[in-house]
Amino acid sequence: MHTYKIAVISGDGIGTEVVPAAIEVLDKVARLDGGFQFQWTYFPWGCDYYLEHGEMMPEDGLETLKQFDQIFLGAVGMPELVPDHISLWGLLIKIRRGLKQSINVRPAKLLAGLESPLKNPENFDITVVRENSEGEYSDSGGRMHSGADEIAIQNAVFTRKSTERAMRYAFEIAKNSRNHVTSATKSNGLTYSMPFWDEVFNEVKEDYPEIDTAVNHIDALAAFFVMKPQAFDVIVASNLFGDILTDLGGAIMGSIGIAPAANLNIEREYPSMFEPVHGSAPDIAGKGIANPIGQIWTGKMMLDFLGHHEAGTRVLDAIEKTLASGIKTGDIGGSSTLAEVKEAIKQNL
Ligand code: ATP
Ligand code: MG
Repeated sequence: MHTYKIAVISGDGIGTEVVPAAIEVLDKVARLDGGFQFQWTYFPWGCDYYLEHGEMMPEDGLETLKQFDQIFLGAVGMPELVPDHISLWGLLIKIRRGLKQSINVRPAKLLAGLESPLKNPENFDITVVRENSEGEYSDSGGRMHSGADEIAIQNAVFTRKSTERAMRYAFEIAKNSRNHVTSATKSNGLTYSMPFWDEVFNEVKEDYPEIDTAVNHIDALAAFFVMKPQAFDVIVASNLFGDILTDLGGAIMGSIGIAPAANLNIEREYPSMFEPVHGSAPDIAGKGIANPIGQIWTGKMMLDFLGHHEAGTRVLDAIEKTLASGIKTGDIGGSSTLAEVKEAIKQNL
């Protein structure tokens, strides 16, 4: 029996409610599978820790995390007491960058029993692979002059290594999906970065003759996301384009409380971090009404990354069965509590 050592950072707000629920589901699916188990180690890092110690996590926190197989994170943020840039840079971005989690993966899929705001959602099932370490979100640029002559410059940095890594990963997962990759570009407007992006995409696709490809400019792609999301399988996008697309993806799924995400170190040199798209949602924290599905589906992504696809499928099936039976939290039009949704999902495993 294999034991996975998982570092758990529940964080703040509803993170402390949805993480324990997801852990119960993951423990149960591991028991049912019989081939592996989890050993959870809890770290009380986040905004409460900051208010007490003046930092979101200890100095040697990254070194500590490196001893684990993966990291399971809830949400951090307490906007009334801790400025967002501190909670973001002091923990999330520190871990993503420090542990070289250079790929972000977010599915957008219409689950049974959920209502999409789209008129004709049919069955869409999209995976967005986002470059997570550079691109438009680089630290390069500056400000100059003042008054009417003021100029702000923000450079975008695209390295061959990171661009190619994101693209290869997209093709690899397309092999286990529906064999299609769409590249999100804008080479008709951006004159250096995106022509380079296109070039690398064309090179990489030569290595995957069995995979069909499409290239869409990001503006058109965003429109297609709304008009015909079923046209997509895997999409590979830069840091900024991927950020925007995945929020849109969360929206067409029906609620941000559903959407899962993974920050991957695909080389498996360091642990990857699995965290839902939503934040700490202070407005509903402590009431027992948060939707645990985003966190539970995030757990399914961790199972997949660990190679336990059967257990992962079991979790997603149980989520869909639960939703289809009408057991839903308020954000998706139901009146069930977090605990009721969690129990139903465990039953449906
Ligand atoms: P962050 O800056 O950490 O991304 P945010 O302010 O953008 O956080 P979230 O915390 O993700 O936003 O939530 C926005 C709103 O969506 C919340 O105020 C809450 O009402 C709702 N929401 C988010 N997550 C959930 C959830 N799991 N269940 C129910 N509602 C949720
Ligand atoms: Mg947000």
